[in-house]
Amino acid sequence: FSENVSGKVVIITGASSGIGEHLAYEYGRRGARLALTAREKSLQEVADTAYDLGSPDVITIRADVSNVDDCKRLVEETVNHFGRLDHLVNNAGITSVCMFEDAPLDMTNFRAVMDTNFWGSVYTTRFAVPHLRNSKGKIVVMSSAKSWLPEPRTSVYNASKAALAAFFDTLRIELGRDVKITIVTPGHIESEITRDRHLSKEGKMEVEQDMRDVQVSAIPVASASECAQAIVNSACRGDRSLTQPSWYSATYLW
Ligand code: NDP
Repeated sequence: FSENVSGKVVIITGASSGIGEHLAYEYGRRGARLALTAREKSLQEVADTAYDLGSPDVITIRADVSNVDDCKRLVEETVNHFGRLDHLVNNAGITSVCMFEDAPLDMTNFRAVMDTNFWGSVYTTRFAVPHLRNSKGKIVVMSSAKSWLPEPRTSVYNASKAALAAFFDTLRIELGRDVKITIVTPGHIESEITRDRHLSKEGKMEVEQDMRDVQVSAIPVASASECAQAIVNSACRGDRSLTQPSWYSATYLW
C-alpha cells in the first residue's frame, strides 16, 4: 500500500538546497501541502517551484533546528496554518570535515554537528509527534551510509548519523502502529554538503595533502532528485528503512 500524499501536510527541514530542495519538488509534484524550512539560504525559489509543480499551498518558515524554541515554533506555525501535520522530514544536516586530532580543543565544530543533525531531528520530532499520532503520520530521518561505513575526517558526522538510526529505531517501538518511521541511509549524493569532495575525470577522488595516504576508489554519485524520489516512495509505503548500497561503494586502503 502506497499512501497518496495529495493534500497531506509535510514539514521538510533543510529544504533550501540539495536533497531537501528536491524533496520539496517531489512532495509538491504529488500534491502535498508544504512547510519548508532552513536557516539562511533563500527558500522562496524552492517554494515557488514546488507550487508550480503541483503543491496547492507552500509556506516557508525560517528556523534553526539546533534551537529547541525554533523547532517548537516550526511545528506550531505549520499546524496553525494547515490545521494538521502528516509527514515530518528531518532532513537538515551539516558536516565538519577534519581529522579528530586537528579539531579545536573546545570541540565547537563537533558539537555543532550533533546539535543540528541529532538534536535538531529529536527536538522537531518531540513537538510533531502529538500531531502525527492524530493523523497516523510518518517521520523520515536522514541517516547515512556513513553510520556503518566509517570514513576518515567525518567522525562526528558519522556518529550523529548512527545516533539517529539508534534513536529512531527505538522510537518506532514506542510509537507503535500510529506513526511510521523511515530511516534513510544514502551514500554519496550530489549537494552542497558533498561539494568539498572533488571527483576527477577518472572518477578518483582528488586526495588532499594531509590525506595522501588514503586511496579512495570511485564513488558513484546519485542526484539529489533521484534520492528524493526514492525517499518519498519509501515514506509513502511506510518502509522501515531505505538503504541503497549501490549509492556507496567507497573502499579505503590505508
Ligand atoms: P545540503 O548542504 O545541500 O543541504 C542542507 C540543508 O540543511 C540546507 O537547506 C541548509 O540550509 C539546512 N540546514 C543546515 N543546518 C540547519 C539548521 N541548523 N537548521 C535548519 N536548517 C539547516 O546537504 P544535503 O542535501 O546533502 O543533505 C541533506 C541531508 O542528507 C543531511 O542530513 C545530510 O547529512 C544527509 N545525507 C546527505 C548525503 C549526501 O551525500 N549528500 C548522504 C547521506 C545523508 P541553511 O544552511 O540555510 O540552514
